[in-house]
Amino acid sequence: MLNIILFGPPGAGKGTQAEKLIEQYGLIHLSTGDLLRAEIAKQTPLGMEAKKLIDKGELVPDEVVIEMIRSKVKEHINGNGFIFDGFPRTTIQAQKLDEMLAKEGVDVDIMISLQVDDNVVIERILKRGAVSGRTDDQNVETIQNRLDTYNRQTAIVEEHYKERNKHRHVFGMGTIEETFNHITKEIDALKN
Ligand code: AMP
Repeated sequence: MLNIILFGPPGAGKGTQAEKLIEQYGLIHLSTGDLLRAEIAKQTPLGMEAKKLIDKGELVPDEVVIEMIRSKVKEHINGNGFIFDGFPRTTIQAQKLDEMLAKEGVDVDIMISLQVDDNVVIERILKRGAVSGRTDDQNVETIQNRLDTYNRQTAIVEEHYKERNKHRHVFGMGTIEETFNHITKEIDALKN
């Protein structure tokens, strides 16, 4: 099994790279943002509560996303592995992820952090918002809050995997193909 965390600020390109990686390695893509947006589209109570926080650029509670991930991990535990995208976003989420994988006798193999400057990220998110219809991608104040939330609560999660020697930085401001090549180099190095 190969379990990868794609990490980095909003707009770093995690979703785009995850789509390419699932094809290359036959993995299951688990994006908590996508799972939450599916709840919003279905107008479930969970989705409606989450939307309020998402539109403010804040995180939804740890328990909510942890339970979403737990059920998906159980469902696909016999597959080739997972790409976690947008999860974990807090140290508690990272600890719970490690625990739930350990229970299944597996582990996170690598966390890949996409390095992208704030000004590039803001530009990319606004561009995406113009076509995706995502309300949290259309408002500069919300985007700035998401970046602040990332710096305040999420960036530190890197330390958790650095301590375990599982963290790698990748330059994320080239073309999609260039970034993909950097990422696959890191993943393929795990096998040697
Ligand atoms: P994303 O699509 O990953 O940018 O996520 C969109 C929004 O969903 C975030 O700004 C958060 O409000 C919420 N969200 C997604 N994943 C998580 C997570 N792991 N923990 C808390 N909130 C999350």
